[in-house]
Amino acid sequence: MTDKPTRQPRHDPRFVLHAAQPRANKLDARQRAICKVDPAFADALSARVNDPRRFAAFAVGATSYIRMAEPCPRCEGFRRRVRDRSCYACHLNRGRDNFERMRAGLSPHKLRSRDSQLDVLSRQRREKAGEFLERTFGSVTVKLFPSGRLEVHYPDGYVEPDLGKVDGRRVWELMDMLPELRDALIWARWF
Ligand SMILES: [Zn+2]
Repeated sequence: MTDKPTRQPRHDPRFVLHAAQPRANKLDARQRAICKVDPAFADALSARVNDPRRFAAFAVGATSYIRMAEPCPRCEGFRRRVRDRSCYACHLNRGRDNFERMRAGLSPHKLRSRDSQLDVLSRQRREKAGEFLERTFGSVTVKLFPSGRLEVHYPDGYVEPDLGKVDGRRVWELMDMLPELRDALIWARWF
């Protein structure tokens, strides 16, 4: 289960010395350590990780990230594990709540999907009404919109309208250059 149809070779001889290949299905500390020493490996890995939020969270060693576009079909949660993209809440609950329910002969917990649909509608309405939160972190100012879109104003005057559409590798580089961007992403609940 890869994020993208793979154009890259399954086995890239450039990475033989790492004894590892860039694989999006398991992001761990080992892959991160290789990325730090080999930019080519980081490029190849980010090309396989579809979601810049996941890659940004991976870059800073966070264990989870928020994926607004695709809530968990089981619990409707937005937080996912960086490691394998599985639902964070379900991972924590597994063997607890649902196990208790199973033992009691009940089906696993499900929330009503209507609630999340209403939530999406209200977010769209608020975005149309021009609602947003703005905060400055050092030389970086960010605007967070109800849809989750994050607009970034850089020190050189450049404005990135939607950081969620920027390549994850680029977000990693930006966090290296501007540590305050990392604080901004934590505030925006990227991870
Ligand atoms: Zn879940």
